Amino acid sequence: MIRERVQEVLRELPPGVRLVGAAKTRTPEEILEAIEGGLEIVGENYVQEAERAVAVIGQRVKWHMIGRLQTNKAKKAVRIFDMIETVDSMKLAGEIDLCCRNAGKIMPVLVGINSGEEEGKSGVMPGDCIDLIREMARLERIRIMGLMTMGPLSSNPGELRPYFRKTKEIFEQVKGLNIHGVEMAYLSMGMSDSYCIALEEGANLIRIGTLIFGERKSEKG
Ligand SMILES: *Cc1c(COP(=O)(O)O)cnc(C)c1O
Repeated sequence: MIRERVQEVLRELPPGVRLVGAAKTRTPEEILEAIEGGLEIVGENYVQEAERAVAVIGQRVKWHMIGRLQTNKAKKAVRIFDMIETVDSMKLAGEIDLCCRNAGKIMPVLVGINSGEEEGKSGVMPGDCIDLIREMARLERIRIMGLMTMGPLSSNPGELRPYFRKTKEIFEQVKGLNIHGVEMAYLSMGMSDSYCIALEEGANLIRIGTLIFGERKSEKG
């Protein structure tokens, strides 16, 4: 079933759009089934869970960090992931940069935007985004490649449209600034119930869990 659902989603995607399989709480076996269906990027929310999955599955796919990353997990994250989609502070960016230096790596990152401007939520506030990107762009071991947003938690996915639109506007604005070392290639927006809207608003990286793997039994958050 998982394999077929991945194939279905991939068939529907417009050209240039890439699928991230959001794999939190899923077993390596479930992820492998998705890979058989053609999944090329796996999104993980927790470093520990990712470590276990990577140990089984290895580098036949790309691994994206899509959850909140704690500074003290940066070292492991740098070792495991091909992209970190949730960088939202200079503190975290600096730590990733340092770990990359030690590991001899360069890490592609997306800047996580708190497009709903919600208190206590991760992501940089839209108004602070450009300053953060300018500052982050000076770090030699980080490659800024775009933006990611979740938007506020909502029972009606249609309500997310303005937040996706706002994020796309910032994306274009940053692109227009031509900041040295910044290559705005990816706009990561949309989940199972909102990806169609996200695509209409310009997403080219969508993060899908439930639609591929089915309902989650347990949710850590
Ligand atoms: C879980 C998760 C998704 C996917 O959510 P679904 O509703 O299961 O498709 C996407 N992005 C992030 C950051 C997630 O944590």
